[in-house]
Amino acid sequence: MKRKLAAGNWKMNGTRAALAELEKIAAAHPEAAVDILICPPYQLLAQAADIAAGSPVAIGGQDCHNEASGAHTGDISAAMLVDTGATAVIVGHSERREDHNETSALVREKARSAIEAGLTAIICLGESEAQRDAANTLDIIAGQLATSVPDITTGANTVIAYEPVWAIGTGKTPTTEQIDEVHDFIRARLVRRFGETEGAAIRLLYGGSVKPGNAAEIFATDNVDGALVGGASLKAEDFSPIIKALE
Ligand code: PGA
Repeated sequence: MKRKLAAGNWKMNGTRAALAELEKIAAAHPEAAVDILICPPYQLLAQAADIAAGSPVAIGGQDCHNEASGAHTGDISAAMLVDTGATAVIVGHSERREDHNETSALVREKARSAIEAGLTAIICLGESEAQRDAANTLDIIAGQLATSVPDITTGANTVIAYEPVWAIGTGKTPTTEQIDEVHDFIRARLVRRFGETEGAAIRLLYGGSVKPGNAAEIFATDNVDGALVGGASLKAEDFSPIIKALE
């Protein structure tokens, strides 16, 4: 059985004081029936990994460079993330694709670099509102999936997060029928490319305005193996009920 995954993306939020929320989350789920991941900003990673040690909570980065080291001011490599105690990294988040002009080809190289360093790569994809309105969602997803996911992907080293851009931080969510359609489509493509066993083992997360109030309904959807949560992962009082809804 695939373990479900509740992943929190703190984005550019949190100074050391925010680690108190991580402590609360770790304490609230001593024997979680699902995997829990928190991706804090870089400066908190090592401390976060120390706090989470011995708890079911794992720590991840929010991005990494596609090269192992070198002259890349301001960037962080997958090996550096591993050195902090991180075990996963988000790549290709729509905020990186937009703010930093990251292409799917670059996202694939980042994912490959992360996997080679021993991290789980959480590869994000999703359509914009204009693309959905133009009925292009599945074409966009197909393209991003084909280009952003590296050939070395397996069920053990990769997670795919479907995050419609228009649902991120907006309070808007797709209907469960819309989530179902996209997740089934992604699953079918993964099975076609990576085979029945690996394609079925890759976990598919939904992300975009997941809250305590809508989590159970979203998690009841076929082929939803968990969530990538932004705003509602910042406070234990919001993230804990989401974890419980997944259990
Ligand atoms: P949100 O962000 O939960 O705040 O909408 C999700 C994400 O960007 O991963």
